[in-house]
Amino acid sequence: MKIYIMTDLEGISGVDSIDMIPEANDGYQKAVAYLCDDINAAVEGAIRGGATEVVVRDGHGSGHNFDRNQLDPRAVRDDTKEYAGMLDDSYSGVLVIGAHAMAGTKNAFLDHTQSSVTWHNYYINGVRCGELAQYASVAGHHNVPVLFVSGDEAACQEARTFFTGVEAVAVKNAVGRNQAVCYDRNECLEKIRDGVQRSLSLIGKIKPYQPLLPMEIRVEFNRADYCDTAVETKPYLERLDARTVRKITNSRREILL
Ligand SMILES: [Zn+2]
Repeated sequence: MKIYIMTDLEGISGVDSIDMIPEANDGYQKAVAYLCDDINAAVEGAIRGGATEVVVRDGHGSGHNFDRNQLDPRAVRDDTKEYAGMLDDSYSGVLVIGAHAMAGTKNAFLDHTQSSVTWHNYYINGVRCGELAQYASVAGHHNVPVLFVSGDEAACQEARTFFTGVEAVAVKNAVGRNQAVCYDRNECLEKIRDGVQRSLSLIGKIKPYQPLLPMEIRVEFNRADYCDTAVETKPYLERLDARTVRKITNSRREILL
């Protein structure tokens, strides 16, 4: 049984401030060590739940966050160029570790969708959604369901709304957008491990996330000049108004513009 783990940094246990996210800041090294702890707890849970192969994607920013020597040696890293390039139809489930809520969510730690600078709102087939739905759509392309999500309370709420029956573990609660109160880290690691183990019993019961095809991808930018740049560099985009573009695609993997 093959399990695929997608990761982000904002929803990792112990990451409680926007100051821990930029690579140049002191707190970043701590944040990426915590990232590895959360991933390793998920790897342990997956193996206890019956996984025979576990693949991990370092999904935040450049994709070069955690030290591969800290990763549980039973897991393999997906360093392919294409996003989640190793994910295919042979997997039984996807776990999302360290998730954040979509742009525009109240009481959500570092809510954003792709770019907190340029993207205001993002829609698949008219439904406003965020990176969780994007990950799930890529997985759904391969008929693979999202089984488990960890992140702040808002990300978990979003996961439960979009993926009925998903196992979700909250590791913190936002205080405004840029700060969070983190729950006890050791308890969080146990909850991630146990939650992941439990979530593997959802295989065969929980549905993959599969928006209807063809799929309309629509992005509303923060400003008209960001929209100008998008249509100049991607001439296939249809401009709907000063700040909004869309494309139509027949692939659930094509979640970006
Ligand atoms: Zn991130």
